This record gives sequence, C-alpha cells and structure tokens, in this order.
Amino acid sequence: MGETMKALIVDDSPSSLAYHCALIDSMGLESVSAAGGREALERYQEQKFDFILLDVEMPSPDGYEVARRIRATESPDEWTPIIFLTGRTDEESLSKGIEAGGDDYLAKPVSELVLAAKMAALRRLNHIRSALVTTAGQLRDTNHLLWQANEKLKTIAAVDGLTGIANRRRLDEMLGREWGRAIREHTPLSVLMADVDFFKLYNDSYGHQAGDDCLRKISGALALAARRPGDLAARYGGEEFAIVLPNTPLEGARHVAQFALEKVLSLGIPHKASKVRDQVSISIGVASVCPDTAKCSCCADLVKMADRALYEAKERGRARVVWAESTPSETV
Ligand SMILES: [Mg+2]
Repeated sequence: MGETMKALIVDDSPSSLAYHCALIDSMGLESVSAAGGREALERYQEQKFDFILLDVEMPSPDGYEVARRIRATESPDEWTPIIFLTGRTDEESLSKGIEAGGDDYLAKPVSELVLAAKMAALRRLNHIRSALVTTAGQLRDTNHLLWQANEKLKTIAAVDGLTGIANRRRLDEMLGREWGRAIREHTPLSVLMADVDFFKLYNDSYGHQAGDDCLRKISGALALAARRPGDLAARYGGEEFAIVLPNTPLEGARHVAQFALEKVLSLGIPHKASKVRDQVSISIGVASVCPDTAKCSCCADLVKMADRALYEAKERGRARVVWAESTPSETV
C-alpha cells in the first residue's frame, strides 16, 4: 500500500455512502465512491484500490456478487482487501461474506476507531502477503535455475568430454535398460567393442593433441554407424569405443561393424607407426544375443563376449571385424 491509501466506497444508500467517504477523507485517505454494484465493478476495472468498503445489501449485483466478481478477475498475485459493510452481523451473513471473498465484516455505520484498527491490520496483512509473493517468486526463479543446472549436469554426466559422444556411464545405463527391454520383448541385442589400432604408437609419433583429434574423428565415424534411433555409440575409455544396437541380430550388427570400420578407414588419417596399414584403423568385436534365451546371464557377459571377439580381431591382424560364436572374419 502506497503513501496515501485509496479506498473504494460502495453503498446504495446516499447518506451511508457520504458518511463513509467523509470518514475515509478525514483519516487522510483518498476515497472513490460508487453508488451501486455495477458502478463499483466499473471503478474497480479502471483503477487500483488499497481496499474496498462494500455494502452487502444492494440491488443486484449485491455486495457478495461484487466481491465474487472482483476475486474472479484478480490475478493470483493481486489482492484487494474487501471489507463488507452491513446492517446484519449474524454468523451466517458473516460466513457468506468470507466465502464470497471478503476479508472482514463491519457493522454500519463504521466508527473511525474501528476503521483505523482495521487499516492497521490490513497493512500488516499486506506486508506479509507481499513478502510471501516475493518469496514465492524467488522460489520459482530458484527452482527454474536448479532445473536448468540439473539438465546441464545430466548432459555433462552423459557425454564424454573429449569426443562429445556418450560416455561410459551413459553406455552402462543404456545397456542395462536395453537388456531389460530385450528380455521383455524377446528381441536380440548386439554390442560392438572397437579399439583404435596401435593408438599408443600414434600418440608417440604425432603427439597427444593429434591423438585427441584422431579420437574425435573416430567418434564421429562411429556415431555415423550408430545412426538409427535407439543405437548408441559411446567412448568406453581411452581409445576403446562401444556401440549398442537394440533389437539387432548378429547379421545386422556385423553390417554396422563393417560400415564403422569402412568409415574410419575412409577418414584417411595417416599413421606411419601402424604395423597393419599406413592409416588409422580400428578392430571391432561383435556379440549378439537374445537375452531371454541367452547363454549369458547379464549385459556384462555380452560386453565380455564382444571384448573377446575384439581380442581375436587384434590377434588375427587388426583392422577387421570379428564376431563371437563364429569363425570367419572380415578384412577390408
Ligand atoms: Mg444497502
């Protein structure tokens, strides 16, 4: 409430209206008069009031109706105190007034003493109320900031800092989820484990900066291979990568692996220290199971199978795809 409080006085009785306006003026406040409910609503639409003295018994709309309409149009952070004026002060009228949206209920004519006491109470209430509105607003702001920070954290927590593809944590999470889904839906699940061939030698020859660039490019190639919705390419750690292919049998997984290998080779990154080619290559192990009929009992076993196939791919000369549970390998 400002320096000079402004009150709307509503009464269909001219003498009562004049009396209460004079009372408000004599208290050093500003009064605006309305000779009925309709006029009161018009005044309320035009300007802001610090409080409203509202006669209850008026031709339609009566005081209750006016209060209801005011409350219905107020926005949630607005609140104009309404004090009903009435000749009737029985309990039933009082509760009806509060229900209609009134804040107090005074018998006519109101004395200066009573009104001054009400003003003081209203000021206190309004003070508490604006503090609450401010706090609620700050809480909303804080909540929003927290939400934003959380979203960002979630992204950071799921992404590998160097390459920008999914990290190990995201991979494990996704693998566990897809394992459960594959059991429920009786679908195959495939995992590719890939390793950059002679990466340590690459780093030794070209430096760690170039090594990082190389890993980024390979990540991009693997992300291209894992391009269906639901596929995931992730950095497993160091120069190791993984691709998870939900609802994909071995045959499909082998195609993806072959595609990934070709993509990496087509990057054409020179690698003079490599013992298999003069460009950077990867070795890939593929494993595929139907978890509900599987020989492995958890998704960690599937990763182990893919890992063993990867080991075999390296044993057989690298730059190739080897899959678990079958002997032939593919070389490019
Ligand atoms: Mg009246």
